[in-house]
Amino acid sequence: MKITDDIIKVLKAGKKFAVAIHINPDGDAIGSQLAFVRALKKMGKEAAAYMQAPIPDNYRFLPGSESIKIVDSLPESFDTLVCLDIPELDRLGKFEESVKGFKSIINIDHHICNARYGIVNISETSASATAELVYHIIKRLDIEIDAEMAVCLYTGIVTDTGSFQYRNTTAEAHRVVADLIENGVRAEKVTREVYEARNLSQVKLLGLTLETMSFSSDGRISWLWVTKKMKDLVGSQPNDTEGFVNYARSVKGVEVAVFFEELDDANIKISLRSKISRVDVNKVAHKFGGGGHPAAAGAVVSGTPEEIEEMILKIIKIEFKNEEK
Ligand code: 5GP
Ligand code: MN
Repeated sequence: MKITDDIIKVLKAGKKFAVAIHINPDGDAIGSQLAFVRALKKMGKEAAAYMQAPIPDNYRFLPGSESIKIVDSLPESFDTLVCLDIPELDRLGKFEESVKGFKSIINIDHHICNARYGIVNISETSASATAELVYHIIKRLDIEIDAEMAVCLYTGIVTDTGSFQYRNTTAEAHRVVADLIENGVRAEKVTREVYEARNLSQVKLLGLTLETMSFSSDGRISWLWVTKKMKDLVGSQPNDTEGFVNYARSVKGVEVAVFFEELDDANIKISLRSKISRVDVNKVAHKFGGGGHPAAAGAVVSGTPEEIEEMILKIIKIEFKNEEK
């Protein structure tokens, strides 16, 4: 992957860097962020990671996670903002307001819907994860990838590829991961921390969620619901629903899987996955103000559960018809 000179120049020129990721961050966003901050510090820069909510429990093992700053707005005295895994600035949530305070914005991302904001943007859809891009940037800076960076970058790639199962699992992703393992990553330790340290509330919630599984009459669409009531019943914690959509996706014959989660009285979180089918779920999510990748996308929509379910299923069915034309 070719990393152009412009990003290297901006990174070398900046002095104080704020590194931000999207709201409701996943393993790729957090892993990329921590590795990037570490690399900037190795360059002798002042750098810090910012988030607006505490890091999910299963990513607390990542080196550097204890120094992430949980704030309502980004610092005003920094010159450069690095945005990682953020296709559009509204994905910064509360931080979007503070963007105007920065002299330069660097945009490093792998989403197809990237808006190409920033004075430099590396928006590379062929990358399995933003972490893969961060790996190449660090290499291009001639900084040694230490064991701490390696575990962060590995976590980014392993989570965004669904443990090397999805269509973004490329030969290049494997080459990068091979190098990360040679630099000290213990793959089974990451698996244990990320996937095998679940809260009991999460497993209980999964049990209730699977009971809601529904199918379209042709079996090509499957969907799941998590309501507020279900979450209250098990005492669920933030992020407990990560990966639930994959159970709908895993059923034979299902081509598009949808996960609906009631966030509050007005808003529903939707996760979409596309398997086998050519239905581009990024397009579907975009119609509801969200986005993502062709095979994995999401949105937050306001309305009643009944209305939203009906609208989403209708759009997916239209997309199936369009694909068949
Ligand atoms: P998930 O369904 O796991 O939350 O997200 C799947 C993909 O869709 C990720 O690439 C994520 O960044 C993107 N995504 C999820 N929710 C939203 C959203 O509300 N807006 C946008 N633009 N993208 C989203
Ligand atoms: Mn990503």
